[in-house]
Amino acid sequence: MKAIQANITTLAVDAIVNAANSSLLGGGGVDGAIHRAAGQDLVSECRLLGGCKTGEAKITKGYRLPAKHIIHTVGPVWRGGNNGESELLANCYANSMKLVREHGLTSVAFPSISTGIYGYPIEKAAQVAVTTVKRFLAESGAAVDVTFCCFSQPDLEVYQALLD
Ligand code: ADP
Repeated sequence: MKAIQANITTLAVDAIVNAANSSLLGGGGVDGAIHRAAGQDLVSECRLLGGCKTGEAKITKGYRLPAKHIIHTVGPVWRGGNNGESELLANCYANSMKLVREHGLTSVAFPSISTGIYGYPIEKAAQVAVTTVKRFLAESGAAVDVTFCCFSQPDLEVYQALLD
């Protein structure tokens, strides 16, 4: 596992993860950037998926992205922390990793799910991200190259402190 600072749409990995909304039809933040970079064929495939519940994950092709696939997952909106947010966020990471494994993928990059428009505090979210992925790799024995792709330098520092 490693953390980097980058625009996730530029990464040539087996899959990038999208912090989508439940419609899967595009939105703001990283979702908008991924849809713009992948092109119109992505939304056509997404229309066939019937949406996605919070904590679940669905996979599509990567279309014009350098990444081969996109795993769309819907993070929880932060409502103070006592509304199941951490379990739902952990489900996003675990269900995305399950798809990585089921599809035989060996590299995946995650954005910091829920920490933009959805308001999840970065320190708490990064803790959930790192512990959930670490546990999945240990329990499954899967050899997957996992990158936490941070958009800002302060976010990168939070992840790096947890990965040291
Ligand atoms: P959410 O609705 O799940 O909060 P956002 O897209 O608003 O999703 O934010 C999630 C994270 O993605 C934030 O840390 C934001 O800074 C980051 N982000 C936005 N655009 C990109 C991008 N192109 N590449 C990587 N991360 C991005």
